[in-house]
Amino acid sequence: MGQNISRRDFSKLLFTGAAGSALGIGAFPLRAGAAASKRVVVVGGGFGGASAAKYLKKLDPSISVTLIEPKAVFYTCPFSNWVLGGLKTMQEIAQKYAVLKNRYKVDVLADTVVSVDGVKSTVRLKSGKVVGYDRLIVSPGIDFNFEAIEGYSRKVAESVMPHAYEAGPQTVLLQKQLHSLKDGGKVIICPPANPFRCPPGPYERASLIAHYLKENKPKSRILILDAKEKFSKQALFTKGWERLYPGMIEWRSASTGGRILNVDSSAMRVTTEFGIEKGDVINLIPPQKAGKIAFDAGLVDSSGWCPVNPVSFESLIQPGIHVIGDACTAGAMPKSGFAASSQGKVTAAAIARLFRGEVPVAPSLVNTCYSLIGPGYGISVAAVYKLTADGIVSIKGAGGLTPMDADDDQLSEEATFARGWYNNIAQDIWG
Ligand SMILES: Cc1cc2nc3c(=O)[nH]c(=O)nc-3n(C[C@H](O)[C@H](O)[C@H](O)COP(=O)(O)OP(=O)(O)OC[C@H]3O[C@@H](n4cnc5c(N)ncnc54)[C@H](O)[C@@H]3O)c2cc1C
Repeated sequence: MGQNISRRDFSKLLFTGAAGSALGIGAFPLRAGAAASKRVVVVGGGFGGASAAKYLKKLDPSISVTLIEPKAVFYTCPFSNWVLGGLKTMQEIAQKYAVLKNRYKVDVLADTVVSVDGVKSTVRLKSGKVVGYDRLIVSPGIDFNFEAIEGYSRKVAESVMPHAYEAGPQTVLLQKQLHSLKDGGKVIICPPANPFRCPPGPYERASLIAHYLKENKPKSRILILDAKEKFSKQALFTKGWERLYPGMIEWRSASTGGRILNVDSSAMRVTTEFGIEKGDVINLIPPQKAGKIAFDAGLVDSSGWCPVNPVSFESLIQPGIHVIGDACTAGAMPKSGFAASSQGKVTAAAIARLFRGEVPVAPSLVNTCYSLIGPGYGISVAAVYKLTADGIVSIKGAGGLTPMDADDDQLSEEATFARGWYNNIAQDIWG
């Protein structure tokens, strides 16, 4: 199949499931045909999974939807940096499942999926229960490659050097460490290489920790040791740091001493190619991969992420199983909560169509990421995506970025929009 296929040919390919082959990634045909039984099991009640569960019920209340999620309370990563900055409480980023259960009649099970049998179409839960499905949606988020950095481990993260890249106890630990920091102390933040969850996340974190330090421990400093050469919204962040926190944040790229070789958690030291850095607080965010159950279910390729058909998010490895959110490879879309929710809705619509015996339609996908640099200083990036023979690509001119010359009113408005974005998406998914 050549690269230059027409739009019409490509649509045909998508609907027959052959688009993956056209893209050189292999694909299963989408299995259309009215289904007698309509049971969907969703693994994970985060941004992707909870959106898919709710929208399946909204689209067709006769579909039986079981959502399996071990946490009774889901703390959102979005706005967890605001907690570190003292601008929100953990309570304010806590989401629960009562509305999905009671209003939308999603069967929410507080359990963990330990294995998937793609042949029998069942999942086994930690409790021993086995649940059957006609379609499975897997949205487990990320797992960490702890072993990629010598001296780092899950245990070190849980006790001494939190990554705080899953909101909850990790956020609380990092917050406590910041509260115990002496004035004049040094905070080291180590962002990972791409791809990883929330590309602007570490830099929003540096900004809001700087806000907290400026208010409470103004002699303190932040050093960012980055595994990359550049980062998301870099020029906007750098400008914001110079304006709000002059001299407080230093960023080093991978090639200028940012790359971490190993850590010594007892001495609170990290070694880079350029020498040793000692920190009072060390927030090491390790490299990432798809959540464990995606590996156990055989959904992951050599990249560490799950390849999917971009029309329906059905796995290109296991038919009948859809993978959404951070765990999947979604072309130009970043690993964000907004993207995961957008994919959850697209997948719900695709499955509802498949159950009706119709073929899924090529989706339009969107993403917006707000970042707060200070309480009244926000920035954002937005994009709209379409499917082409190259997969999911960003439509030129359809998105936008906060202008570099935005005035104070615009920046303050962006901060207001960020608050609105959180309230809206939380309400849309769990409310
Ligand atoms: C600091 C930070 C700030 C961020 N800010 C933003 C932001 O402003 N905007 C934005 O759009 N995104 C943001 N993100 C990114 C966003 O949090 C993720 O992209 C999003 O949560 C991905 O959704 P998901 O459904 O893939 O995974 P999650 O939301 O992480 O949900 C996965 C769920 O699956 C459950 N699970 C895992 N394995 C199993 C299993 N075996 N059985 C049952 N359940 C299981 C987990 O308990 C978890 O609840 C931020 C991330 C971070 C770290």
